Amino acid sequence: MKIENYIRDIQGFPKKEILFKDITPLLNDAIARKEALSILVGSLNGQNIDKVVGAESRGFFFGILLAQELNAGFVPVRKPKKLPYEIISASYELEYGIDSLEMHTDAIKKGDRVLIHDDVLATGGTAKAVCELVEKLGGEIVQCNFLMELSFLNGREKIKEHPIFAAITY
Ligand code: AMP
Repeated sequence: MKIENYIRDIQGFPKKEILFKDITPLLNDAIARKEALSILVGSLNGQNIDKVVGAESRGFFFGILLAQELNAGFVPVRKPKKLPYEIISASYELEYGIDSLEMHTDAIKKGDRVLIHDDVLATGGTAKAVCELVEKLGGEIVQCNFLMELSFLNGREKIKEHPIFAAITY
């Protein structure tokens, strides 16, 4: 079973120059999804995790599965103005301009051991902003993990102070 076979390339989505890595075939297949989850969990080598933090929105899918498997809490990091309670925010650069991500202030306690998850590590801006949010609340980042890393974009440079794992590297 190769989980790579369940990632669909869509050229030109959502913009002309982007090769979009579509995980919906992976989500849609129970065996492939289980295999991907087991690769991500295995990369932790049994390290204890208190909270899994998933980035909106495709980081939520495996983020929740990881939290369930690891007996950990799940924390959604969301785009601005989506979370109803008190928030902290971190901004990151986009190709044109700047955007930000938000997290509830009570989502992580000082000293919590945190796993950060997203589907794709591209330029690393998203992951870096999520790391900042976790660290603002005193969380200890155990690993940043991804289903895929687009290594030619060198996103890992932005989060190099943390352990990084990707199930598939392109
Ligand atoms: P970045 O902040 O550049 O590392 O981008 C990571 C975020 O953008 C992740 O949340 C991904 O879901 C999304 N993303 C970036 N590039 C791609 C891609 N080629 N295919 C699918 N999602 C992508």
